[in-house]
Amino acid sequence: MAFDVDFFVIGAGSGGVRAARIAAGHGAKTLVAEESRIGGTCVIRGCIPKKLYVYASRFADDFRDAAGFGWSVGEPTFDWPTLVAAKDKEIGRLSDAYRDNLARSGAKLVEQRAIVVDPHRVRLADGREVSARHILIACGSRPAPLAGVEGLEHAITSNEIFDLPVFPRRLLVVGGGYIAVEFASLFQRLGSEVTQVMRAPNLLRGFDDDMRNGMRDAMAKAGVTFRFGSLPTRIEKRRDGSLGVTLSDGAVVEADQALIATGRSPNTKGLGLEAAGVELSAAHCAVKVDENLTSNVPSIHAIGDATHRVDLTPVAIREGHTLADRLFGQGAPPVRYDTIASTVFGTPELGAVGLTEREASKRFSSVHVYKTDFRPLKATVSGAPDRAIMKLIVEGANQRIVGAHILAHEAAEMIQLVAVAMTMGATKADFDATVAVHPTAAEELVTMRSAHARYEDGMEIP
Ligand code: NDP
Repeated sequence: MAFDVDFFVIGAGSGGVRAARIAAGHGAKTLVAEESRIGGTCVIRGCIPKKLYVYASRFADDFRDAAGFGWSVGEPTFDWPTLVAAKDKEIGRLSDAYRDNLARSGAKLVEQRAIVVDPHRVRLADGREVSARHILIACGSRPAPLAGVEGLEHAITSNEIFDLPVFPRRLLVVGGGYIAVEFASLFQRLGSEVTQVMRAPNLLRGFDDDMRNGMRDAMAKAGVTFRFGSLPTRIEKRRDGSLGVTLSDGAVVEADQALIATGRSPNTKGLGLEAAGVELSAAHCAVKVDENLTSNVPSIHAIGDATHRVDLTPVAIREGHTLADRLFGQGAPPVRYDTIASTVFGTPELGAVGLTEREASKRFSSVHVYKTDFRPLKATVSGAPDRAIMKLIVEGANQRIVGAHILAHEAAEMIQLVAVAMTMGATKADFDATVAVHPTAAEELVTMRSAHARYEDGMEIP
């Protein structure tokens, strides 16, 4: 049967663009549809602008720390519109680069919404229909609305926060995950009075407990006010534009903006997937895929946030690349998910890969935990209240490193390299045999000599 195209990709985010470029490189006739800006969440309203704002925020620490090293800095001031404009320029450049790379690869782009009609047909917003041998759902995700809040329309999400016309002097952040921690941390440094509320008794569920506590303590020392076990029930907009936010514990927090960061859901609504027979998860309407990234309909595939498994840009990119190689190239090994590192870009950063202490102690009969908690060298002179915490989780039987956790400045840069070692199957002995780079924080990773805790059959050995 002849099709108009070999590969129709819905969504020109990081994953969709990678899949399209690789497929086109293999000679597949490829068409990508995008209803918004080219580059997707990561480039336009996620990772990239967030990291730029994190950089901006850390000058606050630099100005403070400089005095201990002999510098006198006048009273620093921060101009929000300058930062927003600089961000806009950079994401404009990146979006153009995505467009150029796509064009260079030979893939074609249509800038309109596309929906699935049946297993081999897609309809564009202008009414045209395109038949495709394979269809890729790379539509990403969007902020999930928080149920049960009266006046939720007065709150914002991470989509809006980058472009606020006025810098929020008081910011209420709802949630305790990646986005909430990152924005609470960065806005506090840029000068906001930040209150962070979450339903849980601690932030960053799923991360190692020592790291969660360390991040909480560092943020609290920096000035973030936490309200655990609490959520907004009502957001009232005052005459002057400010917000009065009533919490479930009865308290009322006054704020200029309220950021809701309580998870993201796949962007699959209205995409025609149900009609085409594609199975979606009940909870999040995520496309259910097998180990080959294919749905129950053999010609329809999905990657990245659309599948709501590991919602990270590099995972979507890897999945897109792998799928395109499998469909149109020489095949590819399945994506390896067990050594994916990620970082929460608070200040300090929290980098993690593999299992937490708790997870490992449940999974393996013998586990050794190595831990260090120290004051970074720079802080000894600057007087900053910083701590760094590092942990290696080791499977006792074979000394394989099964988890690494770093709460420190530049943890993201460190954890990437630990992930390489773990992907290669590194053991604690490999780390011990590696000579340190001195003086660094990372050297602690290769100089931890005695186990801080041991577990046998799930029980901690005193
Ligand atoms: P997360 O899953 O990280 O955190 C969600 C937070 O919202 C948790 O604190 C959770 O609480 C809370 N929550 C979830 N549902 C509800 C609810 N119904 N009522 C109240 N609270 C709720 O999601 P984010 O929105 O922060 O980020 C979305 C995803 O984007 C992340 O999972 C991550 O994969 C990705 N991301 C990655 C980044 C990075 O790599 N640096 C940066 C930003 C996003 P509880 O703990 O109690 O479940």
